[in-house]
Amino acid sequence: MPDHRKLGRELHLFATDPLIGAGLPFLLPDGAVLRHTLEEYVRDLERRAGYRHVYSPVLGKRELYERSGHWAHYREDMFPPMRVGGEEVVLRPSLCPHHALVYRSRARSHRELPLRIAELGGMYRAELSGVLGGLNRVRAIQLNDAHLFCTPDQVAAEAHGALELIRRVHRDLGLRPARYRLSLAGEGGKHAGSPEQWDRAAALLVEALDSSGIEYEAVAGEAAFYGPKIDVQVVDSAGRESTLSTVQVDFHQPERFDLRYTGPDGAAHRPALVHRSVLGSLERAMAQLVEEHGGAFPPWLAPVQVLVLPVSDAQLPEASALLERCLDAGLRAELASPDQGSLGARVRAGRLVPYQAVLGAAEAAGGQVAPRLRDGRKVDALDVGEFVARAAARVADRGRELWG
Ligand SMILES: [Zn+2]
Repeated sequence: MPDHRKLGRELHLFATDPLIGAGLPFLLPDGAVLRHTLEEYVRDLERRAGYRHVYSPVLGKRELYERSGHWAHYREDMFPPMRVGGEEVVLRPSLCPHHALVYRSRARSHRELPLRIAELGGMYRAELSGVLGGLNRVRAIQLNDAHLFCTPDQVAAEAHGALELIRRVHRDLGLRPARYRLSLAGEGGKHAGSPEQWDRAAALLVEALDSSGIEYEAVAGEAAFYGPKIDVQVVDSAGRESTLSTVQVDFHQPERFDLRYTGPDGAAHRPALVHRSVLGSLERAMAQLVEEHGGAFPPWLAPVQVLVLPVSDAQLPEASALLERCLDAGLRAELASPDQGSLGARVRAGRLVPYQAVLGAAEAAGGQVAPRLRDGRKVDALDVGEFVARAAARVADRGRELWG
């Protein structure tokens, strides 16, 4: 497995600058394309799965995190408060408190539950500079997050649904988790809520794992402060394990924020909360994808999908027309003209691009193109329109296959 820090720089996906600071990488255009594609993909999946997306600010008053329990249990990982006027505001260490307030923004009925609130939002972690490197551990995180507010009876089904979504996404992206970890409370850890709540939450997670047929290892001491969780662990090129996806059951924060819904009996009830992240932090997901695919992304994720290669300047008009057709079909295409080197040199420079569209004199005269696939296969020359349609179809179905 290649190191994403080295490969990410070679592929111009991201960079860092000491003037911005440690743990604060920035995405270059090709890296931004990758992130944008992942965001669109996961938002679309979530929308189909009944999630509603929101936007909330990356800052909040200190009191918000005192209320959620982060201030008491998680302060060492947070940036220090900033004083503005008579108030203290902090960069948020998680999205949960904001989403609790989204829930609380109006009265809720049992008919609205489960209410699945999702956001791809920023959060911040005061990581020590010694542990920072590349995209794996960063101080400014973009999290694919969601909070499923539900009745206690709905928790197991919601956790199960989140696990299914996680498996689907890993399959689509070609990610291979190292293991599923059931992260439980440890001896003497800082935990909020009653032991009964913790036992109930853990039992519901076990039920969800069993109903999904997933093998897992139970590990004490890795829980969140508000509840146990299922962590989907990945291993990077250096052999370090980290959490990508997670599903958590929480009876604590609904209590802290006094969340309620009106039940069929007309009385007020307390909802349960399932926290879940499918892609995890976009930064870590990108690092994992770069290492897993060695930069040879599936066509739908590739920053450049089609490279148009005229053999000589004489084919430049046809090459420009093909570029336009690709762009019109929604493909990410670029033209490498003969002034960038010999055909062989341009083919090598574009070796990670899924489709290379070679245009020689014969193809240009016949309205055709001779595709070369990334895996070395050469496809017989075909009409330009058919090439564009087939490449676009492969991208649209988000498969791993290059052709066919
Ligand atoms: Zn949360």
